[in-house]
Amino acid sequence: SLSERLDSVFKKIKGRGRLDEASIEEGLREVRLALLEADVNYKVVKDFTRKVKEKALGKEVLKSLTPGQQVVKIVHEELIELLGGKNVGLELKGKKPYIIMLVGLQGSGKTTSAAKLALFLRRKKFSPLLVPADVYRPAAIEQLQKLASEINIPSFGSSSNMKPVDIALQAREEAIEKGYDILILDTAGRLHIDEVLMNELVEIKQACSPQEILFVADAMTGQDAVNVASRFDELLDITGVILTKMEGDARGGAALSIKSVTGKPIKFIGVGEKLKDLEVFHPDRIASRILGMGDILTLIEKAQSSIDEKEALKLEEKLKTAKFDLEDFRTQMKRIKKLGSIEGLLKLIPGMGKLRDQLKNVKIPEKEMAKLEAIINSMTKEERKNPKIINASRKERIAKGSGTTVQDVNNLLKNFEQMRKMMQQMMGQMGGGRRLGMKN
Ligand code: GDP
Ligand code: MG
Repeated sequence: SLSERLDSVFKKIKGRGRLDEASIEEGLREVRLALLEADVNYKVVKDFTRKVKEKALGKEVLKSLTPGQQVVKIVHEELIELLGGKNVGLELKGKKPYIIMLVGLQGSGKTTSAAKLALFLRRKKFSPLLVPADVYRPAAIEQLQKLASEINIPSFGSSSNMKPVDIALQAREEAIEKGYDILILDTAGRLHIDEVLMNELVEIKQACSPQEILFVADAMTGQDAVNVASRFDELLDITGVILTKMEGDARGGAALSIKSVTGKPIKFIGVGEKLKDLEVFHPDRIASRILGMGDILTLIEKAQSSIDEKEALKLEEKLKTAKFDLEDFRTQMKRIKKLGSIEGLLKLIPGMGKLRDQLKNVKIPEKEMAKLEAIINSMTKEERKNPKIINASRKERIAKGSGTTVQDVNNLLKNFEQMRKMMQQMMGQMGGGRRLGMKN
């Protein structure tokens, strides 16, 4: 990941007091590559790295961060800024019924997003009417009507021989009549931008002045989406963007580019084919994803609430000097319990791919956790500090006390060394994440 790459670049200059120009340049080369790999527009990348450089130059290296982490931190902050800072919600003002118009190329996800949005808005106590206005693509009207009935949301009875603008106007009449307070207009898309289609969209816009014109873009199409977005924005003055197919490997480079090229906020992301798979767009999360940092903010929040700074330092020290004992192990288990499962934790930690591979052969004792804890709880403090003294009779006592068997106790002791290594790695990773998130 980018964070790892930067870390190795900056290892060399660890200990220097300041981030000097040469080392920043070196780090920024990695940033540039990573952004280009994430399909961020070349001009955007150039602009962006210049800004980061300005910010980073001459900054004192914080004691709590490695220089690499510090640059990552600046990059992260700037990415969030570039993505719009905070989430921008729908701006629904003026006379009801409100109108949200979805536009974009064919296959970008307009029809699906229309239904997703209707579901989202109903949860917000609106009563939406879905309006199919794609009269070109065969069965496009039925597609939306079918989705609408799946989620029990009314849809307008468009027919493919109507003009889209008339569909919009008539649907508005129906909404007023029946008391729907929001219309979601699904429009036609072409494979490429096409004058006729664009004129039609402009006509709809002029006829019914939608509160929102959302450009729907497929995140997987990367750079293309950026050019298309600019064109739609020029003609329609869009109010925002829905970025679809953002689940899985889509890295969000398109998001970054679209926002900075059009200046229009990304309001939602589609994260799957199901109608519940719509999320409000959070710049910080996408920034983390672009950096390959996992959902670091969530991790930091969780970690900060359960990790005491001093305790963590003590622990680090112990790990370094290999004085980590069963007593410490028990503390860690409690911590992991607070953080959720080990698996959940691994997902959140940056650069975990590697560690997860290493751990493949180590039995992750998630389910066994309670048992292990019971066994350790049944030991005396002395035994926890120095497991070597646990002889046969002690084992029997511990097994009885914890409702387990001597075999279980033996296993625990045998595996402890292995688990200790795992903990050591985990704490190392967590330490990185925690420090990265510290305010300064
Ligand atoms: P339209 O031509 O713009 O109306 O696009 P559709 O809504 O018909 O979607 C085209 C294809 O993309 C369909 O197969 C959808 O199921 C799929 N799709 C839409 N949004 C998402 C998404 O967020 N994730 C995934 N994986 N697929 C999506
Ligand atoms: Mg469609």
